[in-house]
Amino acid sequence: MNEMTTGWFDSREMLIGGKWQAAARTLPLEDPSTGSEIGEIARGGADEIDAAVAAAQSALAGEWGRTTAVERGRILTRIGQLVLERVEDLARLEAQDVGKPLTQARNDAIALARYMEFYGGAADKVMGETIPYQDGYTVYTLREPHGVTGHIVPWNYPMQIIGRSVGGALAMGNAAVLKPAEEACLTALAFARLAEEAGLPAGALNVVPGLGEEAGAALAGHPGVDHVSFTGSYPVGQLIQKAAAENVVPVTLELGGKSPQLVFADADLDAALPFLVNAGIQNAGQTCSASSRILIQRSRYQEVAERMAERYGALRVGPAMSDLEVGPLISAAQKRIVEGYLRLGADLDCVATGRIVEEAPDGGHYVAPHLLSGARPGHRLEQEEIFGPAQVLVPFDDEDEAVAIANGTGLGLVAAVWSENGGRQMRLARRLRAGQVFVNNYGAGGGVELPFGGVGKSGHGREKGFEALYSFSQLKTVAAHHG
Ligand code: NAD
Repeated sequence: MNEMTTGWFDSREMLIGGKWQAAARTLPLEDPSTGSEIGEIARGGADEIDAAVAAAQSALAGEWGRTTAVERGRILTRIGQLVLERVEDLARLEAQDVGKPLTQARNDAIALARYMEFYGGAADKVMGETIPYQDGYTVYTLREPHGVTGHIVPWNYPMQIIGRSVGGALAMGNAAVLKPAEEACLTALAFARLAEEAGLPAGALNVVPGLGEEAGAALAGHPGVDHVSFTGSYPVGQLIQKAAAENVVPVTLELGGKSPQLVFADADLDAALPFLVNAGIQNAGQTCSASSRILIQRSRYQEVAERMAERYGALRVGPAMSDLEVGPLISAAQKRIVEGYLRLGADLDCVATGRIVEEAPDGGHYVAPHLLSGARPGHRLEQEEIFGPAQVLVPFDDEDEAVAIANGTGLGLVAAVWSENGGRQMRLARRLRAGQVFVNNYGAGGGVELPFGGVGKSGHGREKGFEALYSFSQLKTVAAHHG
């Protein structure tokens, strides 16, 4: 097996300092829809990370460091245009690499373009301020890049997470070293190709695929890295924060969730239903902000369960290219984890499942979506991230109980309230412990513009929106005494 033929890059290569180079070692590349090996990717390690960090430092000392905010914005905007021109190619790459149904992969490619447009437009709009101070002083603040930013991203939404993280960092003038996930790195390479084509100077973006414990750990703990942005699991997030602490550099941690949707008796169920189900099964449930808990006021519990079950009955699971509602999981290992959770839920009432289509290849990592009813607060399926296509339904009696259950996992990424009562909407938006609260919607269609991140064990720091630009920069105060 050798490189995967993409027509525009060699899957075994890395990009370091503007040079595409093969790694000495490789890793197999698998298609989750079939379980077969379709090529190889680079297995970068500590040496390659060293070289990438040095290349990023040179870029900051050279052309990239001298690039004005206006020009950085233009480059990002051009990358966005090129992404839009290649949406179909990018979507196919991602579908094959992640097992994501084609329509969902296409949406991710469009979101990547949106991030580039948004951060391209924002690059020259981040300003400092003047501060009234004592007579004889002029005091002002400057927003400056950290320097070299490390980006460690997972496999579930490579394009979206690269867009929000690398996009924000480049907009502020940082030089980035990106370590994509070993399970899915093709669109990271494709993105780097497009960035080059758009005129991004050499070394401003370096991409080193490889294993987490090798390339990822080397990047998180590298003394030349000035900021680390990590999206992934809680245990690895802890390691990243410890590694960054050694060098006393800031980290953004975007970790997992157990995001609830609270359905009150006065909710508009017709409006809510598509969101209740889609938020659980999109990307086969492998979404950090997946809504894997649906909390329902007791008087309408049965009705909501029945109507969700109807929708589950229509869900088809199959290969990414068949573009059904649900694709395979990313790997055999992920399938084992999800099946383990389903066994833990054997004491719950399985009210409906989706269906794996006959043409789904045997080697693919397919799991039928499961809708499970009757979970008590504290049940492991009510508490832990499943990261697969399964949702639990939990009854509640009143607002206080709903809030206690919703806030009872230690995680806090996203929450939603479905109710027609304006007072309740406002009260709960405040009481729910989450980085984002949606009222009568869920996810707001992706929301490139909306700051995103967790509280508690879901992480800290914000990406997306304008807010990310503050994370990807540091504030300098200048106090000039002039008498
Ligand atoms: P993971 O933590 O295993 O891997 C994420 C990334 O970290 C990968 O690039 C991996 O190679 C790297 N990594 C692994 N071990 C490492 C180490 N020791 N040092 C440095 N890097 C290391 O997570 P995953 O299984 O790929 O993704 C699933 C998790 O990510 C879920 O918990 C999910 O909720 C979370 N996630 C969160 C968000 C968010 O925005 N909050 C988005 C997507 C996924």
